[in-house]
Amino acid sequence: MPTPRVVVLGGGLSGMAAAYTLARAGWDRVTVVERGPELGGLAGTFETGGHFYPLAYHHILHRDRGLLYFLDAIGALPDVRWRKISMLFQLDGRMYDLAHPVDFLRFPMSLVDKLRFVRLMLRCFRKSDWSDWNHRSAADLIDEWGGPGVRRAIFDPLTRLKFNKPCHAVSGAWLGARLHFREGSAPLGYIPGTNWTKVLCEGVAGLLASASVQVRLSTSVSGLVAEGDRVTRVELDTGERLAADVVVSTVPTEVYQQLLADPRPDLDHVRYTAVVSAIFATKQRVTPNFYWMNLASRDCTASGIFMLNALNPTIGAPGETCLNLMTHVPHRGDTFFQQSDDEILAGYRADFQRVFGFELEPFWTQVNRLAMYAPVFDRGYENPPLRDAVFRNVYGAGNYRTFPSIASTGTALSSGVETAAAVLADHGGTTDLPAQIGRYRLASMPRG
Ligand SMILES: Cc1cc2nc3c(=O)[nH]c(=O)nc-3n(C[C@H](O)[C@H](O)[C@H](O)COP(=O)(O)OP(=O)(O)OC[C@H]3O[C@@H](n4cnc5c(N)ncnc54)[C@H](O)[C@@H]3O)c2cc1C
Repeated sequence: MPTPRVVVLGGGLSGMAAAYTLARAGWDRVTVVERGPELGGLAGTFETGGHFYPLAYHHILHRDRGLLYFLDAIGALPDVRWRKISMLFQLDGRMYDLAHPVDFLRFPMSLVDKLRFVRLMLRCFRKSDWSDWNHRSAADLIDEWGGPGVRRAIFDPLTRLKFNKPCHAVSGAWLGARLHFREGSAPLGYIPGTNWTKVLCEGVAGLLASASVQVRLSTSVSGLVAEGDRVTRVELDTGERLAADVVVSTVPTEVYQQLLADPRPDLDHVRYTAVVSAIFATKQRVTPNFYWMNLASRDCTASGIFMLNALNPTIGAPGETCLNLMTHVPHRGDTFFQQSDDEILAGYRADFQRVFGFELEPFWTQVNRLAMYAPVFDRGYENPPLRDAVFRNVYGAGNYRTFPSIASTGTALSSGVETAAAVLADHGGTTDLPAQIGRYRLASMPRG
């Protein structure tokens, strides 16, 4: 008996993982349709002068099991190096490294609140399951485990940078899960000599090729044709129609809704934020040495500055300082997102001058606009169900389903695997991949 014909919408990491899981289980009629010229989506890469750069900063998290599993599966894990980075908080013209005792003591917050902040962080590092906070706000979490002073001094500025909202409007489960990943305090991973997301995307693309998954690049899905409660054909912008027994949608829900003939109010609560990211390459030396700087003062157009070579000293050409200034934008319709490249670059150069006191002189720049980055994780956010509410043979995966965990490469991969496991289960099949990822542990963390 032939296996079902599967069409996977979108070739980001969740689509690739879903396709791979099905093909690994013996399904031999799986097609991935990707709008871009390469697989990878948000984890994509661009090239300048023979060197490769991420569209925006990307680091490997030591607790991101889905990512670690796939890096291992493609043979890249032994190449990963780990580095403790410095994360700075820029406030009212001063920079603070909260992991550094002297900076921590001079940070404008009372001593009692500093002790409460430490207690809060320790509790969050230890807690891995945040489902009991799903319906409570980040303000509830910080006020209960830290205190309102901690929230006002540190977390309200951070949630404003990320979602343009104060802590009381943001999910407590999301913030707790984010702190559990210890992005600011645990070592972060990279692969020397390259951009690691390129290695990951090419490696997973290699797994798809060896499992005989069909990949259609530079092809957009333009519509879905339904008969009763099943989607039977996937329409492409080339005019073709692919017959489908199963559809796995990994495109953002806002894109999925546009593919359907009828409105889908059950998905209306998923509203995507956008990101503007500009990479600057310069020969100038930038001090202090930091990887990640949160611009909390609200007088900058950027939300953060990343010095990419502070994590990966081999990124780009020798002697190059590679900076990524980026802004979380509440929606792609906002005026900032619509600005020209020149306007965005001028704003970021003014930010740089304000923060470092001298003019940035890049020898190349690249602006990337990421229209649908991740949903806004409001208090009460709920993942849409994995099985579509209307069509019996349509399944969903992607970073709109990974709440409360962070939106990362690893959670996207895991989401694709989880959805494919459900597809298999509905057709009498099984896969051991979710269990393998669930028990995956790093054996060692070689330092860079
Ligand atoms: C600024 C930024 C920083 C990040 N930092 C990190 C980090 O440090 N570490 C980390 O692990 N993760 C990081 N991430 C997160 C990670 O990159 C994403 O969560 C992950 O790549 C999402 O994968 P996905 O497959 O769910 O979504 P996507 O990558 O969005 O994939 C969806 C795919 O669908 C395609 N598509 C859309 N419409 C159509 C259509 N009509 N037809 C065909 N194809 C279509 C898109 O082109 C895209 O390839 C970061 C992301 C961003 C944006």
